[in-house]
Amino acid sequence: MSLKILLVEDEAAIRQMLVFALQQQGFEVLEAGNTQIAFELLASNDIDLLILDWMLPGISGVELCRRLKKDTSSKHIPIIMLTARAEEDDKIQGLNAGADDYLTKPFSPRELIARINAVLRRVSSKKTEDSIMEFGGLQLNEKSYRVTSNREPLQIGPTEFKLLHFFMSNPDRVFTRAQLLDNVWGNEVYVEERTVDVHIRRLRKALEQGHHDHMIQTVRGAGYRFSLN
Ligand code: CA
Repeated sequence: MSLKILLVEDEAAIRQMLVFALQQQGFEVLEAGNTQIAFELLASNDIDLLILDWMLPGISGVELCRRLKKDTSSKHIPIIMLTARAEEDDKIQGLNAGADDYLTKPFSPRELIARINAVLRRVSSKKTEDSIMEFGGLQLNEKSYRVTSNREPLQIGPTEFKLLHFFMSNPDRVFTRAQLLDNVWGNEVYVEERTVDVHIRRLRKALEQGHHDHMIQTVRGAGYRFSLN
């Protein structure tokens, strides 16, 4: 069965060229000229990969990307963003929105196909090695009990490891100290809520080496959250 790619691009000429190139590679291609059509196709099809133009009429490609990556029903779909802009800021914005890769126009269909294959390989190897979690260069390996930052190992204590593991398994969610105690320490141990703060501090300290400490965020009056942004 061929993989289904959704191509969202408002310029008909580029769309036609890409559809042709992708079909030649054996992909099944669905086309959308705007985000509205893209939403409809996403709702009624099982899409394996999305190619998304940055500049679209109405809802922009970046905004669509952000929405899809927030939604549990669509966040697993890999997204390659296309853009005419080459500025580094835009690239970061695109990647922060959750794009899996990024291609600056003009590019050759061959280049796009190489990127598609790379992204698909990454996604399938992620599925088989799901003991490894990664967020913005911060990687945690459940099996080897290792945490690395851009492949550099970080010194981290066992409690901080468990805490980070829990956070990375539940990104962008706020947890109270009591919830963290329950989930990380387990309810068989009696620990004061203040203990959580101590270990949060140690965890941030450990993550400082790779400048990932900002990912452990204090949410005033609520607790803590792990987030890329
Ligand atoms: Ca466009």
